[in-house]
Amino acid sequence: MNSSASQDAASSKAPTVDALLDQLLETIQDYPEPGISFKDLTPVFADGTALRAVVDALIKPFEGQFDAVAGVEARGFLLAAAAAYASGTGVITVRKAGKLPREVYREDYGLEYGSASLELHREDTPPGTRVLILDDVLATGGTLAAAARLFERAGVHVTGIGVVLELEALTGRSALPGHRVESLKLV
Ligand code: AMP
Repeated sequence: MNSSASQDAASSKAPTVDALLDQLLETIQDYPEPGISFKDLTPVFADGTALRAVVDALIKPFEGQFDAVAGVEARGFLLAAAAAYASGTGVITVRKAGKLPREVYREDYGLEYGSASLELHREDTPPGTRVLILDDVLATGGTLAAAARLFERAGVHVTGIGVVLELEALTGRSALPGHRVESLKLV
């Protein structure tokens, strides 16, 4: 076997992102409220192979099409920082209300449980920048829709939205019309 064939054989044995998520993802029933089935990705983030595979898979559909990666507080920050580093781009933080010290855009939205606001520094992202937005879970889509609205108000082009898990029954994708949404796994 030549070296490229042996590399192919080795990579074909690498676990797929789907298999890694099946193995590591934890689901906690009735957390943080009765009726919520909480998808806990912290064991995925804690595993080096899985973290790299997930981040690479999130970047792949949008390769070469973004200048910065935005993460939604807080778990989205982990993915965005890793994706920005891996792609040689910058990272932008979309934060919960009251955390950013300078002038912000603010968007309110409803959640699967409760409501909240997100903020973006007005001057951190020059108009015309192409941004990939990442988060861990797409549920109702309210969070990512609010994040996308923030960038649109800033004159920033949203290249796309990437999530690790999409809770299919909540049809969050329908809250993101006109956006390219890529999820690594439907649950
Ligand atoms: P949504 O705005 O409803 O799409 O909710 C998305 C945000 O809430 C993401 O930042 C997730 O981290 C979090 N979230 C919502 N529902 C869940 C869930 N069932 N399991 C884990 N995280 C969730």
